[in-house]
Amino acid sequence: MATIASKLQLVRSRINHACLKVHRAQDSVRLLAVSKTFAAEAVREAFEAGQRCFGENYVQEAVDKIQALADLRSQIEWHLIGPLQSNKTRVVAETFDWVHTIDRLKIAQRLSEQRPEHLPPLQVCVQINTSGETSKSGVAPHEALALAQAVAQLPRLRLRGVMALPAPSDDPREQHRALRAVRDSFNDLISSGLTLDTLSMGMSADLESAVEEGSSMVRIGSAIFGQR
Ligand SMILES: *Cc1c(COP(=O)(O)O)cnc(C)c1O
Repeated sequence: MATIASKLQLVRSRINHACLKVHRAQDSVRLLAVSKTFAAEAVREAFEAGQRCFGENYVQEAVDKIQALADLRSQIEWHLIGPLQSNKTRVVAETFDWVHTIDRLKIAQRLSEQRPEHLPPLQVCVQINTSGETSKSGVAPHEALALAQAVAQLPRLRLRGVMALPAPSDDPREQHRALRAVRDSFNDLISSGLTLDTLSMGMSADLESAVEEGSSMVRIGSAIFGQR
């Protein structure tokens, strides 16, 4: 059976290959290893193979895992990539480094209020529903700029960019282009001094097209840890 280390290697070479194809620098794409449903020991194995950024979907599962890996806490960046309900914002504000799934101002406001003073600002992305009717998560593209502008004002959050989770039935490349177009429409924000450097898109099956279309962070689960 392939080890986590060898699968990580394979994913990194897929990213590098896609970068080469479109003349992008290989270090312009960050790899987020999505460890949902896998045990803390699998995360540790990936860590030992050099991986430092991990994504989780379920708040309680993540909190338990972060606790179990407390000895690595200062070296790991933890990203929440699953839906966030308002009754979970406090633990998320206290535990995570990034949240990719901001789709309502109320959630962002709570996270900002609850982010502890001793931690750096929480890094956030606005989740965009590029799939239209087929997916319920995320804000509609035409509402994205208003939400992003409001989020950018919150003192304890730092807006980094946009994220999308296309429905499985969608054409991935079309979705990647749609997300990039939303990011490009934020030029007003960008020119006012904010660095929106993050396009969070691409998973195990569509990593190549995401990188070709400009992804800066791919979120890879099964290709690293195995089938869930
Ligand atoms: C599970 C998940 C991923 C990883 O998906 P794989 O197909 O296993 O690579 C990426 N992003 C989100 C939001 C997810 O929920």
